[in-house]
Amino acid sequence: MIRIYNTLSKKKEEFVPIEEGKVRMYVCGPTVYNFIHIGNARPMIVFDTVRRYLEHKGYEVNFVSNFTDVDDKIIKKANEEGVSADEISKRYIEECKKDMEGMNIRPATVHPLATQEIDGMIAMISDLMEKGYAYAVNGTVYFRTRRFAEYGKLSHKNLDDLQGGNRSLLVSGEDEKEDPLDFVLWKPKKEGEPYWVSPWGDGRPGWHIECSVMSRKYLGEQIDIHGGGEDLVFPHHENEIAQSEACSGKVFSRYWMHNAFLNIDNRKMSKSLGNFFTVREISEKYDLQVLRFFMLNAHYRSPLNFSAELMEASKNALERIQTAVDSLKYTAEHAAAEQMTDGEREQLKEADAFMEAFDRAMDDDFNTADAIAAVFDLVKYVNTHTGEGSSREAAQAFCGRIQRLCDILGIITEKQEELLDADVEGLIEERQAARKAKNFARADEIRNLLLEKGIILEDTREGVKWKRA
Ligand code: AMP
Ligand code: ZN
Repeated sequence: MIRIYNTLSKKKEEFVPIEEGKVRMYVCGPTVYNFIHIGNARPMIVFDTVRRYLEHKGYEVNFVSNFTDVDDKIIKKANEEGVSADEISKRYIEECKKDMEGMNIRPATVHPLATQEIDGMIAMISDLMEKGYAYAVNGTVYFRTRRFAEYGKLSHKNLDDLQGGNRSLLVSGEDEKEDPLDFVLWKPKKEGEPYWVSPWGDGRPGWHIECSVMSRKYLGEQIDIHGGGEDLVFPHHENEIAQSEACSGKVFSRYWMHNAFLNIDNRKMSKSLGNFFTVREISEKYDLQVLRFFMLNAHYRSPLNFSAELMEASKNALERIQTAVDSLKYTAEHAAAEQMTDGEREQLKEADAFMEAFDRAMDDDFNTADAIAAVFDLVKYVNTHTGEGSSREAAQAFCGRIQRLCDILGIITEKQEELLDADVEGLIEERQAARKAKNFARADEIRNLLLEKGIILEDTREGVKWKRA
């Protein structure tokens, strides 16, 4: 039995899907105006792991995660670069997908784009207006928050407290609203911004309506799990609930899961503090498997601190698992005996305890920290009980067990021989130095070495450029 901590009830609850054997799951994706940072990577890794574990338990998971590809930040970046918003979002969706692949995050069943779903958003907003939950003023459409009696149920906020906290909105020129608590569903276009035609005038959707519409379209009116970072609880998810439930009259999502934040050196990650890392920057120093392993070492609801020391520790720990897998493969290849002995059969049975501990940890609100501890117990057991005398069958069985557990966590057990960006840059520098010293043999050797690893060099007027084949 899987238990999930539900933000709605603030309790761990037994997981029972709407439809037996199937899970409908929606996770809010990133706004694509830059490379994703390592904070954005946390929900991606966490919910990819949740999905993998549910599949391991036999569920068929329909996993939907959007890209927010229309937003103020995207427009700002587009204006700075003098290109279209579309170009910016397309570029960073592609870059995000590369980072996801590096972190072994499987593509969602569907990755909808907000800009491709505008008709659905206009339809839902119209429906909300007909039902009396929304109204238009001067081209802006607002949601009538107080009409939705259960508003605040996810964030456990009370409307009157919110009213106090929101007073500042009134002075910032939003006094056309009936109530300061009302939020935007549709906003009118501004000069130089992308827009769509709507019954309320040209404009674009508010952020919250996107997720209500995309999750309804791809998963139906009612879903099992909705996920995202804890900063999304209020107002984003609260507003999603208000929109979806006001429309359908049904419970939108049964379980709400939120990951805690990733901090850097115990401080909030921010550009102004200069402690801000993109996933791409980390990939220059580490195989991204290390980043994934590092994230899963903490429970997803615990704040997680990122530091160079912790990354080094994760790298070493991951290598211990990979070395154990390598040794088992070597043992299997060179084993004198083919078949398992009775003693080995007993050992495998004994090691089942670690497999069970792994599932127990994951059943308990996806406790990946304890699950990884179970993997290490298995690795330790294997290291002490297998070796030269082991049969091929036993070595393969142990190896398969470690790999199965790692695969559920999305951790690749093969050592990556691939060159990291930093290594490539280093070799290119060395090649330049060799050429300068007229050591052309060494320069060619480096070029060929890089070619073997799938790195193509191009000598241009601005210097050496490289790409992966
Ligand atoms: P955004 O692009 O800002 O909408 O964020 C995409 C996802 O990343 C959301 O689920 C956020 O909650 C999550 N997120 C952003 N920053 C962090 C962080 N420092 N730690 C964990 N999750 C984060
Ligand atoms: Zn969302």
